[in-house]
Amino acid sequence: MHTDLVAALDIGGTKIAGALIDGRGGILARAQRPTPAKEDGETVMGAVSGVLGELRKASDWDAVRAVGIGSAGPVDASEGTVSPVNVAAWRGFPLVARVREATGDLPVTLVGDGVAIAAAEHWQGAARGHDNALCMVVSTGVGGGLVIGGQVHPGPTGNSGHIGHISVDLDGDLCPCGGRGCVERIASGPNIARRALADGWEPGTDGDATAAGVAAAARAGDRIARASFDRAAQALAASIAATATLVEIDIAVIGGGVAKAGDLLFTPLRAALKEYATLSFVQGLEVVPAQMGTDAGLVGAAAGALRHFGGTGA
Ligand SMILES: [Zn+2]
Repeated sequence: MHTDLVAALDIGGTKIAGALIDGRGGILARAQRPTPAKEDGETVMGAVSGVLGELRKASDWDAVRAVGIGSAGPVDASEGTVSPVNVAAWRGFPLVARVREATGDLPVTLVGDGVAIAAAEHWQGAARGHDNALCMVVSTGVGGGLVIGGQVHPGPTGNSGHIGHISVDLDGDLCPCGGRGCVERIASGPNIARRALADGWEPGTDGDATAAGVAAAARAGDRIARASFDRAAQALAASIAATATLVEIDIAVIGGGVAKAGDLLFTPLRAALKEYATLSFVQGLEVVPAQMGTDAGLVGAAAGALRHFGGTGA
């Protein structure tokens, strides 16, 4: 006997991943394609169809009751469309309708990737048991999602919690989003590296000029490298404190490549948080590393779909 399953899709600028997932978050089958992000919209959709086609060949496909999509944003869950910044040909692309068509009219849910990750951390990861949480991803970009009152809070269009593009520096650098002084402009991996290089840091003999290279140099005692991480930590702390003050979260979970720097990020972040989260009701705020690995997007996308047909899920 089959248990009811969900087909989950995690759509990013680099890869399109799919999986069949059961009501406990177990992964039964997988498929993956690179995202042809520079191609036309139909070619990108072709990669999605390819992933779904592979999943349909799995013996468990007959038990699939719904499809859950987590996509790079912005998304518009109310319209069923996506416009991922890094997939230029998809602007207002009707992904929900196309996936429904490709799966024989299964119900399809759509959320932004930050919301999906929050759902995954709340269901099975570091935010489990917390009714009010902010979950963030700090990597090439900075994204996030919120859990409020025990429920994931996607917002009307599925983008709520998009903390990377709130401003923490009123006169700061222009951001590609059109804003100024955004968290992402200070704390993302490429911006940590950009600032270190601009301040005179030189990559080591391996030539690694990424945030990972900056992290290695900071650990070896390079002052400029460390200062760039401190600045990122400060931006994250200010944004987390603001969020906690607005909606009373009691935990912030941080994942993504930059969070892999560990104490190099978390120690100055916790110190800076004391400066920004000052009111009595936010002083107990915890900041912890994410626990879900690279499957967080898939598991979170599944959580949303499971809720819709009364399976379990966050
Ligand atoms: Zn921005």
